[in-house]
Amino acid sequence: MSVVPSALDNESCDVAIRASFLHFKSDPDFSGDAFEYLEDGLLILKGGRVRQLVNAPDWIDHLPDGSALYDYSGCLVMPGFIDTHTHYPQTEMIASYGLQLLDWLKQYTFPTEEKFAERDHANQIAEFFCEEMLRNGTTTSAVFATVHSESVDAIFEAAQRRDMCLIAGKVMMDRNAPASLCDDPQQSYRQSVELIQRWHLQGRLHYAVTPRFAPSCSPEQLELCGQLLAEHPDLYLQSHVAENVDEVRWVAELFPESRSYLDVYDRFGLLGPRSVYAHCIHLDEADRVRMADSGAAMAFCPTSNLFLGSGLFSLDSAYRHGIRVGLATDVGAGTSFSMLQTLNEAYKVCQLAGHSLTPLKAFYLATLGSAESLYLDHRIGNFEVGKEADFVVLDLQATELMKLRMQNAQSLEDKLFALMMLGDDRCVQATHVMGQRRFQRGRV
Ligand SMILES: [Zn+2]
Repeated sequence: MSVVPSALDNESCDVAIRASFLHFKSDPDFSGDAFEYLEDGLLILKGGRVRQLVNAPDWIDHLPDGSALYDYSGCLVMPGFIDTHTHYPQTEMIASYGLQLLDWLKQYTFPTEEKFAERDHANQIAEFFCEEMLRNGTTTSAVFATVHSESVDAIFEAAQRRDMCLIAGKVMMDRNAPASLCDDPQQSYRQSVELIQRWHLQGRLHYAVTPRFAPSCSPEQLELCGQLLAEHPDLYLQSHVAENVDEVRWVAELFPESRSYLDVYDRFGLLGPRSVYAHCIHLDEADRVRMADSGAAMAFCPTSNLFLGSGLFSLDSAYRHGIRVGLATDVGAGTSFSMLQTLNEAYKVCQLAGHSLTPLKAFYLATLGSAESLYLDHRIGNFEVGKEADFVVLDLQATELMKLRMQNAQSLEDKLFALMMLGDDRCVQATHVMGQRRFQRGRV
């Protein structure tokens, strides 16, 4: 028996969204009722936050006068996708041909990042990047800027204008890169402190201490990264580890006293909650145990790992060890801004590693799982009461092929699987941030 609700009042609703809804409450591998699906649902918001998710037929006639209704009937609404590792300055060099990590950095990345000494250029790419995120239904990212402070200001300003929850930081790099892209440890520390004061916890923004990777950082610089974290314990730390076999060999030469690549960071106090390490491919058992114990997160970057030929991330072993894992595009080595396309490649990486990424697990990973990896699940990642209302509106019939395929879809899981294999930005009808529509397909 359905309970007929009393009328909503203006105190409890200013925006309502009608659609099908899917969101996760926990990891579907560990719980039978990890997700909630409503075929005809109504998401009721107040002040940009979730008040209730209910059945639309019971409630649609009880909305208070003056509340805005977005009717997305026929579409599927999910929490906004969360990209746990990407580089906004590399947007313009995505899909650059033919090299593996270390040569790719030299030939494409460093010349591109040099342009970000110019604030106007940084602004232009930061604007494009945020728009491209929203066009793909991504509402939160952990982003590398460049070594230039201006590049950090540009991305935070672009995110702030859209009220997006964003993590970013200045790249710290004092060796093994062109002189124009190197800072020195003391200067890098001072600039980071200024940026932390200017941006950290301003609205929905978070600062991340961002050493590029161990080969580009002297021991003194890594020590100062550790000092920044010790002085500001609620900061993030983002870097790369164990992406490519030549890189791993190089790190062993540069830091002979360390047991492993991961151990380099550990010795400088850079492993802990809110530390996010991209790739994590060539790790051993002791590294994985240490990742789990420390509370640090792995960012799984399937399109990047395949594109650069770096190797296959083991999602299975990460979960077996109880490590936090987020999904990531890693643009511009990653080949797509679309988290649907990223899930497509993630599925194939898991297939090659001999296990299956189920569609429910995949969409958990792109939403709540990534929020948990970033310790942001108390604010974003699902539609529980009080959460910040970031969400994506998906059309599962966006292409002719998807229309045909969906006719034969027998279950929710089947539809979700076809969505992640066939879908891309064409499926994103709209993206909302804190309840506000920030992207609508077909509108400029
Ligand atoms: Zn990266």
